[in-house]
Amino acid sequence: IYKYLIKLNQDPNRIIGKLILIVEVTEMRRLEKMRTEFVANVSHELKTPLTSILGFVETLKNGAIDNEKVRDKFLNIIEIEAERLTRLIDDLLTLSDIESNKLSSNKKEYIDVYEEMIQIKDMMEEIAKQKDIEFICEIQESLPNIYGNRDWFKQMIINLVDNAIKYTPEGGIVRVSAYEKENSIFISVKDTGIGIPKKDIPRLFERFYRVDKARSRKVGGTGLGLAIVKHIVLSFGGKVDVYSEEGKGAEFLVKIPL
Ligand code: ADP
Repeated sequence: IYKYLIKLNQDPNRIIGKLILIVEVTEMRRLEKMRTEFVANVSHELKTPLTSILGFVETLKNGAIDNEKVRDKFLNIIEIEAERLTRLIDDLLTLSDIESNKLSSNKKEYIDVYEEMIQIKDMMEEIAKQKDIEFICEIQESLPNIYGNRDWFKQMIINLVDNAIKYTPEGGIVRVSAYEKENSIFISVKDTGIGIPKKDIPRLFERFYRVDKARSRKVGGTGLGLAIVKHIVLSFGGKVDVYSEEGKGAEFLVKIPL
């Protein structure tokens, strides 16, 4: 534009107008803030188990190792915290893989939804049984195939069912259903657990967002499960909705267009 103005006006010292350039930076600032927050969150989440591990190792070295009972208890804690670190790193790698949507990591194929859901059912049924939770699975037979990454599809359902089991007290019910409607496949994961307060629902799919940090930690959560679900659903061109009444349960409804 500057060169064009100079051409129009042979004398570059004569002012013939003003050029105002406005750049909208709100979105850039928002992304930058999210990135900074994410790095801070990751550091904090990694540091917590590490501090605990180092603390117990130090105590063992300082003499606790001689007491068999104390030693076993501390080693147990170290093991639990190390497993937590592994889960966290695995989830971070999965999330970065899905988010970057690299062609090499997103191997797409036709997925037999019925077949996959039956496999997931067999696996999750066992976990529910251990917690005395009734697991009901209703899958419409002859569901049409969908196109996308099979591993990601499985991971998405497992994360939702795993949460339903984690946040439902003993004696509760987890119901998974899959059906075809409106040229889409719907997958619903519904539980009779603690539910989610209305105010928390809009932020639920953010990384590391938890309604109750202490409870999430206790049940072994990394705070990344739903962020992973959201990005997988997006990779299928779908959407996920949450319906919940606090204290009565929650439903996560995934819609994937055919
Ligand atoms: P986490 O590893 O903490 O479970 P997620 O990303 O999977 O992390 O879930 C985020 C938060 O959403 C959880 O900490 C929990 O507070 C809430 N949440 C997820 N699923 C359910 C559910 N089925 N019932 C109640 N709360 C849930």
